[in-house]
Formats: sequence, C-alpha cells, structure tokens
Amino acid sequence: MIRDPEHEKMPRKDLEQLQLERLQAKVRVVYEKVPFYRQAFKEKGVTPDDIQTLSDLTKLPFTSKLDFRDNYPFGLMAVPHDQVVRIHSSSGTTGKPIIAPYTQGDIDTWSEIMARTLAAGGATKDDVIQNAYGYGLFTGGLGFHYGAERLGASVIPTSGGNTKRQILLLQDLETTVITCTPSYALILDETAKDMGIDLRDTKLRLGFMGAEPWSEQMRGDIEERLGILAINIYGLTEIIGPGVSVECPYKCGMHIAEDHFLVEVINPETGEQLPYGEEGELVITTLTKEAQPVIRFRTKDIVSLNPEPCDCGRTLVRMSRVTGRSDDMLIVRGVNVFPSQIESVLLAIEGVEPHYMIVVDRQHVFKSDELEIWVEVSEEVFSDEMLKMENLEQRLREEMDSVLGISAHIKLVEPKTIARTEGKAKRVVDRSEL
Ligand code: ADP
Ligand code: ZN
Repeated sequence: MIRDPEHEKMPRKDLEQLQLERLQAKVRVVYEKVPFYRQAFKEKGVTPDDIQTLSDLTKLPFTSKLDFRDNYPFGLMAVPHDQVVRIHSSSGTTGKPIIAPYTQGDIDTWSEIMARTLAAGGATKDDVIQNAYGYGLFTGGLGFHYGAERLGASVIPTSGGNTKRQILLLQDLETTVITCTPSYALILDETAKDMGIDLRDTKLRLGFMGAEPWSEQMRGDIEERLGILAINIYGLTEIIGPGVSVECPYKCGMHIAEDHFLVEVINPETGEQLPYGEEGELVITTLTKEAQPVIRFRTKDIVSLNPEPCDCGRTLVRMSRVTGRSDDMLIVRGVNVFPSQIESVLLAIEGVEPHYMIVVDRQHVFKSDELEIWVEVSEEVFSDEMLKMENLEQRLREEMDSVLGISAHIKLVEPKTIARTEGKAKRVVDRSEL
C-alpha cells in the first residue's frame, strides 16, 4: 500500500525541486549552528549561497564516522539541548559510540517514515506486529515500534531474545508480521522446531528484515522456513535508524525515502560521484532531520542505485541489496569478497544450513589468503556416510573457486554448533577469538 502517495509517487522533477529547497535550508542551518560544518565548508571554500542546484551537492564536504567520534557526544548537534527528547546510540565498530539525538519533530518524522515503510512492505493496521528488534539504545526496536503504532497495527514489543516465550506469544496472539534481523529469524525457526512447532502453520505472513547484510539465497531460505514474504529494510543510526529504504512487494531493490534523504553513490577511493547503476559507496544527506542533520555522510555501504519507475508506482529511487560494508571486505589472494557473497554460494548448495563463520587471521584481515569457512551441515548429511561429507566439502570448495575465484579451507561442522546471535550476526571471526 502507498501510504503517502504525494511523496512516494511524486514526479521526479517535483521531487528534485523539493529536495533542493530542503537541502538549501538544511545547509544554512548547519552552517549557522554547527561549528564543525562551518569549518568544513570553509576548508572547501563553499558557503550556503553556492548551493543553487542539486548538482552543487558535490561542492559540500563529506561527513565520516570519524567525524562523529571526533565530535562526541554532541558536537554535531544543531539545536539547543532542551529540544532533545531522545538519544540513541550505536556501538559502531571501534572506539567511542555514535550518538544520535532526536527532537520531537524528528521522532514524529521518523514514526511517519516507519509507518510508510511498513505499509510499503504490505503491513496494515489490521496486522499484529511482533517486534523482535532489540529495544534500547539500538534504533531498531523503538524505530519499528513507533512506526507500527503510527500505522495503527497492534505491536507486541518482545525485543530480541527469550525465544521460547517469543514463539509462544507468536502462536497465541496470532502474530502476522515479524520484525527482526535475518539471523534472528533463523533462531526463531530453529527454536520453534525444537518445540515441535512449524512456523508455517502459524498466522505469520510477512517479515521486515535488515540491520545486517543478507543474501538473496538467505531470503529464500527464511521465506521457506517461516512461510512468509521477507522484505528487506535498511537504515543506520547516523542518519535516523531504520526507514532509510525498504522494498515493496516486488522485491526489486529498496525504495529510498528521498523526500527525507538525498543519496549519491561515490567511488570510495576518489570520492567522485558515480552515475546511476554503478556500484559504489552510498552517501546520504538528511533533508529534514532537526537535532543532528548530516551532510554527505559516507555510509561505507556498497550499493548501486536504480531510478527506473517501479511496478508499484513509486517514483523513489531503489538501492540494491547491500553487499557489505567496505570495512568487511576481505581480500583473498587479491580478490575482493564480501561475507554475503560467500553466503550466497554456500546456501545455494543442498545440505548446507544457513549458519556459517568465516575465520581469518587479524593481521591478515585485508590480505587474507588463509581463509577458513566453517559451515554447518543438515542433520541428514551429518548422519549419513562419511563419503557424503567429503563430497559436500569438495563441492563447496569448487563452488567458492569457480563462482568467487577464491580458494578457501572448508570445515564442515555438526548442526547447531556455530554460535547464534540474537541481534546482528557476526560472520567474520578472528582466529584468536575462537
Ligand atoms: P552499528 O554501526 O553499530 O552496526 P547501525 O544499526 O547504525 O549500528 O548499523 C547500520 C548498518 O547496518 C548499515 O550501515 C549497514 O551496514 C547495516 N545494514 C542495515 N540494514 C541493512 C540491510 N538491509 N542490508 C545490509 N546491511 C544493512
Ligand atoms: Zn516498488
């Protein structure tokens, strides 16, 4: 369903005009209110008056994760503290956490974006939405919660974890929509089976999954196990949380909420803007955020953009599945690979469970030629003859080699031996952590 046709189906010309007006206003705000931006603009020799068209965006400086850390906790804020009504935070990868303050206006905007996002995937006010994203500092829990309430659905705020109770509630309260990370969806399925419950026999029909990279093969697997349509959703703390983009039921890329977020794709090495269709780093400028507007934020997420109109009627640009963060990229004998590419090769093979771990040596992380992949096999394969295991191992090795051009040591492990994570999965592990 299209909740906000005025914006979601806006003719591109009008949308671009709206984006330009919002950009000009935001640029003025950060220039006046945020010393960091005033300084960064100065270094680039640019002032708000230089932004006359959308292509002038490239004159503006980038904001990086490092800038968030350097300005920790409130250095990037554009409003006085008394206007802040909520503060979220993400762990980030290393060092100081990323701080995300919101005004009441931001919470309202975000709730509306999330309501529209849930509607885009096919949720309605008649749904019972079980929200298994973590509540707390993480933006997932509250982001979905407010959106689902705004939509008028019934929300069950289970948060992540306590999986058995989660399944009990799912059955008894007749949950129709589940929101969680793809890895938690697998845990739900596994636990349900242990309890003698097949999730396909429940009222569950739809899932909104994101917060971590997952492959198309993983989607197929989850849809089959849970008996649902699994919709991909993307977002990040620095920008707002979940709701930056979402798939429609055509599942052909995630529509970006472009009336709120202005996007570009750049060459991560040179910083140059790339044309539509080319793969590169996603860069986002917030157009409506009040507490902490962000100019040209480098997400490190590798995607491509598709501006073609979609069958659903939306005019909003679609972004591809995120292959991975540029930080997670492994270089194996000179070949670039993302964990999600390894995942898609693994899951295409019969007898392999969607649980795997990539083991690397920290000092070689970016030049690893000793790549080890631990893969769980199904009960059937495991209880079969040794020869079957050996054949599977060889098959996996060959597929890695022919599809990704990398050679890896494959280690097949017993079902249920790889650690499960209730939030974001950690697929790449250093040998020293084992
Ligand atoms: P943290 O940085 O601590 O993981 P965030 O929740 O802000 O906290 O993480 C946002 C990141 O999660 C994104 O930049 C992206 O790398 C990843 N992500 C979010 N949604 C998806 C998705 N649907 N597919 C792939 N990656 C995603
Ligand atoms: Zn669409």
